[in-house]
Parts: sequence; C-alpha cells; structure tokens
Amino acid sequence: MVQRRYPLWVAVAAAIVMIGAACSIAAALAIARTEAKDSQGRFGVSAAGVVSRLSQTIQNENDLVISAGGFADREPDPTSSQLAAWLATVQAPQRYPELQQVMIIQKVPVGRLADFAAGRWSHPAAALPDSTLALPPTARGYYCLASATGYPGISGSPVGVDLCANEAVARSRDSGRAVTTRITGGQWADGTLLAGTPLAVVTPIYRGGYVPGSVTSRQEAFVCWIVMTINTQVILNEAIGNHPDLGVTLRYDNGSGTPVVASGGVAVVGGQTLTTSLSTGLTVTVTGPPDAGGVLGPGSPVVVLVTGLAASLLLGVLILVLATGRERALRLVSQKTDELAHLALHDALTGMPNRALIVDRVDHALARVRRSRGTAAVLFVDLDGFKKVNDTFGHAAGDHLLCTVAARLTGAVRASDTAGRLGGDEFVVIVEDATAESGAEIVAERILSRLAEPVQLNDAAGTLVRTRASIGIAVGLRDSSEDLLRDADIALYAAKTSGKDRFVLFAPQMHEVAQARLALETDLRVAVGTDQFFLLYQPIFDLRTEEMIGVEALLRWQHPERGVIAPDQFIPLAEETGLIVGLGRWVLGEACRQAVTWQAHGHNLMMSVNVSSRQFDSDVDIVADVRTALADSGLEADRLMLEITESRLMRDAEQSAVKLGALKDCGIRLAIDDFGTGYSSLSYLQQFRVDVLKIDRSFVASAGDSTVASALLRTVVQLGKAFGIETLAEGIEEEAQLRFLQRAGCDSGQGFLFAKPMAPESLEELAIRTKATPRKTMLSLTRAPAS
Ligand code: C2E
Ligand code: CA
Ligand code: CA
Repeated sequence: MVQRRYPLWVAVAAAIVMIGAACSIAAALAIARTEAKDSQGRFGVSAAGVVSRLSQTIQNENDLVISAGGFADREPDPTSSQLAAWLATVQAPQRYPELQQVMIIQKVPVGRLADFAAGRWSHPAAALPDSTLALPPTARGYYCLASATGYPGISGSPVGVDLCANEAVARSRDSGRAVTTRITGGQWADGTLLAGTPLAVVTPIYRGGYVPGSVTSRQEAFVCWIVMTINTQVILNEAIGNHPDLGVTLRYDNGSGTPVVASGGVAVVGGQTLTTSLSTGLTVTVTGPPDAGGVLGPGSPVVVLVTGLAASLLLGVLILVLATGRERALRLVSQKTDELAHLALHDALTGMPNRALIVDRVDHALARVRRSRGTAAVLFVDLDGFKKVNDTFGHAAGDHLLCTVAARLTGAVRASDTAGRLGGDEFVVIVEDATAESGAEIVAERILSRLAEPVQLNDAAGTLVRTRASIGIAVGLRDSSEDLLRDADIALYAAKTSGKDRFVLFAPQMHEVAQARLALETDLRVAVGTDQFFLLYQPIFDLRTEEMIGVEALLRWQHPERGVIAPDQFIPLAEETGLIVGLGRWVLGEACRQAVTWQAHGHNLMMSVNVSSRQFDSDVDIVADVRTALADSGLEADRLMLEITESRLMRDAEQSAVKLGALKDCGIRLAIDDFGTGYSSLSYLQQFRVDVLKIDRSFVASAGDSTVASALLRTVVQLGKAFGIETLAEGIEEEAQLRFLQRAGCDSGQGFLFAKPMAPESLEELAIRTKATPRKTMLSLTRAPAS
C-alpha cells in the first residue's frame, strides 16, 4: 500500500515544478513588461533632460554669437587683447566652458597684405607670423586672415592661413547665417590643426549690426567673421549629465550635404532612441539602453525567471526526496516489521510457522470449533531416525532433510490447514475443519506415505535416505491450545513406543500413562544422582555340561515409594532422556567389579552386560567406558561380554560393524541380543565380529511346539556353527525346551528353568553348590525361585 504511493509523489513533485516554472515565467514576463515601461519612462525623462540641456547650451552659444556680433560692429578690427578683454567681460570662460577659441577673421586685400603682415594694418596683429607673407597669390583679390584671437593660450590657431576657401567661411558671409562646420580629423581647414573637439561656428558680421536682405548687399556690408570653436565633448557631456548610460549625437545639417556630427556618451546599438530637432539644421539624437532585455535579457526578469525555476525545481526535488524518503523509511519500517514479525512467527530453517504461530492458529481453530461446533485436529509429526541422519551425514544434510520434510508436509495439507515446525524433527499439522476423526487420519496417512519416499541428501554422494515418521493425533474441543497440542504429543509418544512409522489417535487413558511417565521421569532424574540402582545376575549354563559358565547383569531400580522397578519400565525412559549413558557406565563398572570379586572367590564367570542403543550411539564413547571399567576393576577383557540388540545393530549395519570392531579390539566378547527379531542379514554376521548369538526367548518359548519355530531354532544354531559363532538360548523355562536346544546343538542358555536373576550373594551360593553337586541335582536345586 505504501509502495503504491511512490508514483503519486513523483506526480506531485512534477506538478509543483511545472506550476513553479509557469509562475516564474509569468512573473518574469510581467517584470520584464513593467521594467520595459519603467525603462522607457526613465529613458524618456533622461533623454528629454539631455535634449533640454543641450538646447540650452546651444541657445547660450547663440546668445554669445549675437553678443559677439555687437562687439564686432562696435570694434570692426579688434586686437587680440581687445577680444580677450571682451570675452572676459561677457564671462565667457565661466559661462561657456565649451568655448575653446574665439577668433576674428578679416578680409585683407592683396594690396595690403604687406601692411597686414608688418602690423601696419589698422590694428597691428602683434603675434602674426611672417608666414602670411608667403601666402600664394589669389584670384579673389583678398585673403581671409585671422586678425585677432581670444584665449591666446590655445595653440594651433589658423593664424596666417587664408581661410577664404573654407566652405563655411564663404557660405556664412553670403547666407548671412552662422555656419557650423566640423573640423574633420583635427583639420579646421587647410590642414590647420586645432586642439580639442572640433566644431567651429562661423558667424558673419555686417555693418550696422544687422544682416542685409540680399547676397549682394550682404557682401557689401560685410565686416568680418567671428569664429567660435567649441568643444562639443564638453557640451555633450554637460547635456548627458548624470546619465552615463546615455549616448547623444548632435547633427548639424549646414546644407552642404555632409552633416556635421558630434557624438558623446555611450551610444548603445539597438537601444532606445529619441531624436529631436532643436533649431534650423540641428538635430539631437539621444540613445539609451534597450528598454528591457526581455525575459532572457540582463536584469531582474531573468533573475526572477532563473531563481523561480531553480526554486520550483528545488522544491519539487525536496518534496520528492522528503516524500519518498519518508516513503522509503516507512517502506523500510513496514518491511522490517514484516520481517521481524515473520521471524518471530516462523521457523528460520524451513520458513514454516513456529511454535508461537502454531499455538495462535490452534487457538483460532478452537475458537471456530466453539462457534460452529465443528472439529479441529492437531497432528504431531516426529521423524523416526532423524538423529541418525544428522550424526552420520552432518548437520547440513540434517537441515536439508528437514527442509524436504517441511516441503512435503506443506504439500500434503490443504491451503486452509497449517503445517509448522516445533523444533528439531518435530512438526505439527493443524487440520482446521476435520469433520470427523477419519479426516485427520486420512491426512496422517497421506503424510506417512509422502514422508516414506526416499530423500536425496545434499552431500557429495547424494545419498538416498528413507526416513519414517510417527504421528500423534488429537481431535476435538479442548479448553486451550496447549491441551490439544499436549494430547497430540501424548498420542505421538504412544505411536513411538508402539513401534514407530505409524499414527496413533489420542485416547484419554494415554493421558494418565503420560502423567505417570512424567512422574517416573522426574523420579529417574533423582535416582541417577542417588544410590537407587542395583544389579541382579542371571546365570548362564553350558547346555552340554549344564555347568554355570557366566552371568548376565540385569539392572533394577529400588524406587523409594514404588519398590523395585524392572528395567522394561525405565530403560526406554532413561534412553529417551539420555540418562542411560551415565547409568550404563555405572552398570559396566559395577558388573566388572562384581566379576573380579567372584574371581577372587574362585568363580571364574563370564560377565555379560547389556548395552542400550543410545549408549552404543552416544557421543561419549562406549569403547572408552569399557576400557575404563576394565582398568578400574582389573577384569581381563575376555571375561567381559557386551550384549547389543540385533535391531540396533541392523539399524545402521555399516556403522555398527565399525563400532563393534573397535570394541572387539579391546579384547572383550560380543553378543547379539534378542537375535531373530531384527532381521539380520547374514552378510553382516561376519562383519560384526560377534562371539555369541543370543536367540530371543520368543523362539525358545515355542521350541518343540510349532514345527516352524523349531526349524528356525535349529537353523540359527546351524548358522552359528557355520559362522563359528556360539549360540545362547534365553528364556528357557521348560525341560522340553532345554532338551530340544540340547538336541539342536545350542551351546549355552539361561532361563527360569535354571535360575531367575538373583542378588550377587545368592548367585555365589548357587555357584558353589553347582560345582559341588551333580548336574541332575543342580537342576532340581535351582528350580526354587530366586528373585
Ligand atoms: P534382556 O537382555 O533380554 O534380558 C533378559 C530378560 O529376560 C531379563 O528381564 C530377565 O529377567 C528375563 N528372563 C530371564 N529368563 C527368563 C525366562 O525364563 N522367562 C522370562 N519370561 N523372562 C526371562 P529384565 O531383567 O526385566 O530385563 C529386561 C530387559 O531390560 C533386558 O532384556 C535388557 O534388554 C534390559 N536390561 C536389563 N538390564 C539392563 C542394563 O543393565 N542395561 C541395559 N541397557 N538394559 C538392561
Ligand atoms: Ca540381554
Ligand atoms: Ca534378550
């Protein structure tokens, strides 16, 4: 559910980025428009200011020209100092900072050039150089020569130069108007250099101070020219004022076809422009920065756009990161929670429901049963011989087997049912709506047949193993899940003790048995720690001579309340609980000690000791126990015989052969106990290196009665002879049985006919008596019950 929201967050983030981008563009456009308007407005104001300042300056300039006209009319041929004095009077330097030079130009007739040059002109021009004398001859009949200059500090005045050819000079006299001319490349005229920036305003002066109406009359009334050289840079800079981003161009069309242009400030190509005509011939163009750079141009719109885009992108990413980060965190949390929940409720190895979940499911099943009056069943499944696989092939193989079993179990139940693992090789199946006990039994049968199929282990050899299972079934309503599970467990125990590879339905009386067993187990644990065990000894006779040749040590438990308990009652329990290992070690030591005691008393008896499967299989080495018992007691090894049941040896013949070999190497004797019940394969008899076959008493009991059993007995005896193995018949109770065995050639025997298991003192007495008494008498003597 959490995972499904991830695309949603992506969509939200994308929407936010898109909306943000749209807003940014809109804002940038609006700002650009406003800025453009503002810019246009600002430019308009600035440009108007520039134009107005410029026109003011030009107006001032005109005033000065007019004022100069009056001066020249009064003083038609002033000297330079007179001119300078006048300029000072009109405060020209202060009021006209752009003014670079003021100059009077006179028409000097060719005939008077010498006087002009010699200072004999009306007012001698003191500073005039002799170069005037070198002027070329002219067709006009006069020269146009500077006669006085104001601002004498300014160098480069066109003094001594004939200016008549200057277009502006000529045209101004005839037109009667001031003519402005540009001084191209610093050339005012005729190559004469003039410092500063270059606009010369040439104004004709006529007699009477006015401009005559016709060209002819103007030529007649002409007095002189006043030339004012102005630094346009100063004018333009003044006009621009504090608008350094503006450019201004002054254009003067003097009618000659080539406009006079002066530029100042920073003209921007593609910028805003304002063009205004000031007075005749003068045009001002103000340029400014572009009204706005558009959205992408320099300035705030692009900043707004970029910032807005970046911010919305950042916001989108942030939301995505936060949201998905949170999503991720939530996802992780829920994932981990699920994992933990799964771990808490499932078995790590098989992934099956574990005990906790099983209990929960049983509770639910019981609740359902209470509501609907249906039935629920619990099956306890326990593998037979799992431990062997684990011990023989290792834990990895054991795990593999468990996983295979888990898969088979899961496959054997319906989806509505539960298969789980309690631990070890114990599994549980909950059959939710077992309508009848038969329902659970059908499931149990199916499980048994599925588990019976061989399993290929994951070892290098790919060993095939065949494991069986025991199943305990509890069906019906209980107060709690524990009760139902406990009953299934009790039924399982019954299945195990009644031979395994089967299922057993729980019956109420099993409960008492189980409780008794539990009580016994508790007592047994106490008993092992205290001195509650003792041994009885049953004599073994040579059947040919009827001589006592040995004894079998048989364990008894002196229970403080229940009296003496037989081994059949507690040995299986001691095996299950593992108590048998320590107990068996004690038996071995005690029996060896007893044998040595009897030897000391002159009775050289073979001591036969029972070894249980669990003891034989135990990790605590039986071989070591044997060596210790022999060493501690001082008994010769060939006086000790160990009895191991045929069923145990055949369960794992190969491994048994190895272990038996190790025991044989100690020098002791070995017997196969309960022979005939464990389906020995003859081929193993040789490998087992055993000395004695103890023929099971079930065969002996029927000896002579049934021809089949008798035939079997005879066959076993002959088999022993063929393999060189002694035969010993146990449970001889009747004379007829003894005679039959003797006839068959059986080597030795034991049974109530000879003697019951008895205390060591009684046995010693019997041993003494049998030595001293003839064989027939011995039999009658021993017929008295002993224990
Ligand atoms: P088992 O090894 O077959 O021992 C022989 C059992 O047969 C003994 O029972 C013995 O009392 C009984 N018996 C002897 N003669 C006759 C007879 O003529 N007729 C009948 N009906 N029974 C006879 P017990 O002493 O109760 O032992 C039972 C089983 O307990 C033994 O069977 C043996 O497997 C096991 N056991 C006894 N002592 C030990 C022990 O020290 N260690 C281990 N691991 N197992 C023991
Ligand atoms: Ca035995
Ligand atoms: Ca036996």
